Amino acid sequence: MKKDQVMDRRGFLKIGMKAGGGMLALSAIPIQLLADDMVSEDEPLAQAMGYKLDATTVDTVKYPKRAGDVGATQFCYNCALFAGEADDEFAPCSIFQNRLVAGQGWCSVWVAKA
Ligand code: SF4
Repeated sequence: MKKDQVMDRRGFLKIGMKAGGGMLALSAIPIQLLADDMVSEDEPLAQAMGYKLDATTVDTVKYPKRAGDVGATQFCYNCALFAGEADDEFAPCSIFQNRLVAGQGWCSVWVAKA
């Protein structure tokens, strides 16, 4: 191997950083797509519906429907509009154009699964 073919430590690190950056960029794409598909509590419709990712954080004074022992049993996973299984972490909800809501979430449209 010729002297100019020997890669010094700095060159090796530069290539490693570029490769790592590329891998990082590639791995961020699905996460970003998934994030765009998930309903955020900050969206206007979510706010209007009182949607929370964690149903236990719902303001039960503002939303008395979720107050008390009966209300505390309401979660997205047991709502009629949750298009998933009871143990799914996220599933589509028709109120949000079939974007993903949290199984442990809740909103004021909650309707018991039949
Ligand atoms: S409609 Fe049901 S599944 Fe959809 S966000 Fe509200 S409680 Fe969750």
